[in-house]
Amino acid sequence: KDFRNNVKPNWCPGCGDFSVQAAIQRAAANVGLEPENLAVISGIGCSGRISGYINSYGFHGIHGRSLPIAQGVKMANRDLTVIASGGDGDGFAIGMGHTIHAIRRNIDITYIVMDNQIYGLTKGQTSPRSATGFKTKSTPQGSVEQPIAPMEMALTAGATFVAQSFSTDLKDLTALIEAGMKHKGFSLINVFSPCVTYNKVNTYDWFKENLTKLSDIEGYDPSNREEAMQTLMKHNGLVTGLIYQNTERPSYQELLKGYSEAPLVEADLQLDGAHFDKLVEEFM
Ligand code: SF4
Repeated sequence: KDFRNNVKPNWCPGCGDFSVQAAIQRAAANVGLEPENLAVISGIGCSGRISGYINSYGFHGIHGRSLPIAQGVKMANRDLTVIASGGDGDGFAIGMGHTIHAIRRNIDITYIVMDNQIYGLTKGQTSPRSATGFKTKSTPQGSVEQPIAPMEMALTAGATFVAQSFSTDLKDLTALIEAGMKHKGFSLINVFSPCVTYNKVNTYDWFKENLTKLSDIEGYDPSNREEAMQTLMKHNGLVTGLIYQNTERPSYQELLKGYSEAPLVEADLQLDGAHFDKLVEEFM
């Protein structure tokens, strides 16, 4: 089970996205998948290239649209383990509407966001995760906006699996992705993945100094939503680990009548000439 392919990533040396790629490959192998059981769907941005760097089905979609495509793939073939991925600009700006609705829908896919608090591919503009006061070429006097708080947003939208990690914590990140893949419902994993080229504030050292591991908080209970929210607010969102998981709520697929009968890809759609013409007529 080798999820590596022979495509050499063209990320900058030191980019946090390398570790996320490795973690996905390890997690997929650890849960016993074969490459043909996995689909990685990505949006646009440096991190969006990840779908081309993993030996699996892959689809590099358009900006902010990894989730609609990933949901379509999962609905058509429930036998696939589906990962959607992208950056914080992709998921929390142009794709935010899809993110919230996928969360509340609780569709059974894992969404991995590579959060570098900047737009890297377009050479360094302020993103929805950039801190207030953050200076870039798009905010030369410092951003006057509040950053999105994705974990708190996910909790309020009804998420059933919310986790956060740091790209250098490869072991923890791999374990979280494995848990997300096994979770029956939507799992959101936000990964602090430093952009070494354009973000000179949120560096590896900055994260090491500012992140708190939930495993170091005595008695932390990830099944307690209220505690999860309070902990996030207390630490300004800068925590890593499994923040919240609800294993009781059924997934979107489990609630859909008839969905369990057969994957759509195996259904006989009877699209011979006559049926196809009839279908086209309905849209004329
Ligand atoms: Fe990574 Fe930043 Fe380089 Fe993009 S620009 S590949 S995010 S280090």
